[in-house]
Amino acid sequence: MRWSWKIGRVAGINIYMHATFLLLLLFILLAYWFQGHNLATALAGVFFILVTFACVIFHELGHALTARRYGVRTRDIILLPIGGVARLERMPDQPLQELWVALAGPAVNLVIAAGLWLLLSAQGIHPALGSVRWAAGSFLDRVMVVNLWLVGFNLLPAFPMDGGRVLRALLAMRTDYVHATQMAAHVGQAMALVFGFIGLFSNPFLLFIALFVWMGAEAEAAAVQVHTSLGTIPVQRVMLTNFRTLQPDDTLAQAVDHILGGFQHDFPVVFGDRVLGVLTREDLISALAQRGPEVHVRDAMCREFQIADSHDMLERALGLLRDCRCRSIPVQHDGRLVGMLDIENVGEFLMIQSALRQQGAREKAEKAAVTHTG
Ligand SMILES: [Zn+2]
Repeated sequence: MRWSWKIGRVAGINIYMHATFLLLLLFILLAYWFQGHNLATALAGVFFILVTFACVIFHELGHALTARRYGVRTRDIILLPIGGVARLERMPDQPLQELWVALAGPAVNLVIAAGLWLLLSAQGIHPALGSVRWAAGSFLDRVMVVNLWLVGFNLLPAFPMDGGRVLRALLAMRTDYVHATQMAAHVGQAMALVFGFIGLFSNPFLLFIALFVWMGAEAEAAAVQVHTSLGTIPVQRVMLTNFRTLQPDDTLAQAVDHILGGFQHDFPVVFGDRVLGVLTREDLISALAQRGPEVHVRDAMCREFQIADSHDMLERALGLLRDCRCRSIPVQHDGRLVGMLDIENVGEFLMIQSALRQQGAREKAEKAAVTHTG
């Protein structure tokens, strides 16, 4: 994300702080300063916020490390003034796994709060949960309350909070994923309306949360819509059918001719009907530089490659492309090579689809306008 700095790395995951987070610290410093006219109180306020955000980082690590158990990597963790975000590369496929990943964050804060409660009790202090407030009580008291607040806030059943994901995962165990997301998004937006309404008459901060929740619900529903539209397009509609192949005994010079003569970057290497490997442009260039143009394709090609089936849905095939970090993969059906799926081509296909949809919507609107005036 732009405007963010790396502040550390835990368990192989980079942690970034967004620039606006500094503004929050400055704001707290000034707020305390004007209240107490005293640098010590102001710095104590900032220290409290830093400790709070350390708890937020632990919360995000809870999500990230649980996701890792299911083979899902985390790109990074970003600290924003409204909280933290662990950017997972994808959501786990099973609803039960999504449930555990979503619950792991709040569970971390619950454990911290329980630990502090035990610590305080051991010192003979019994924090009465009903009476503690943000700005009152001892330091540890307040850190405990903040953690309980993080548990409660994050478990609200609305996207983008963890509770929204918990709700969706529970619904997805009974119905399909899209339907479950739409239902969870509606619950979130209904809650946003209630928050907004209460916020109008009491706390303006609630209005802010309402807006945040409303947008989060919309974004999630839209993301799942994309997910499903890719899930209904078969690979054969998008793949390149006009492509060249290489034989294992061809030389790199022949591959160079193909590259210069066309638009293809990666070539399936076939023997009879069987795909033996893929020669990518990068492999070709590095083999050319090291060993010259007379080397055989079989000595330069990559033998470990993903292969899609033309009857697969696009979403699955894009997953294969993502996993192998390649630009294109061969497509086969019934053991025969029938095409190449190329990421640029998929991009073009999606652009055309979206243009056609817009045009369709406009036509519909025009027709409706005509019947209305008529
Ligand atoms: Zn969370």
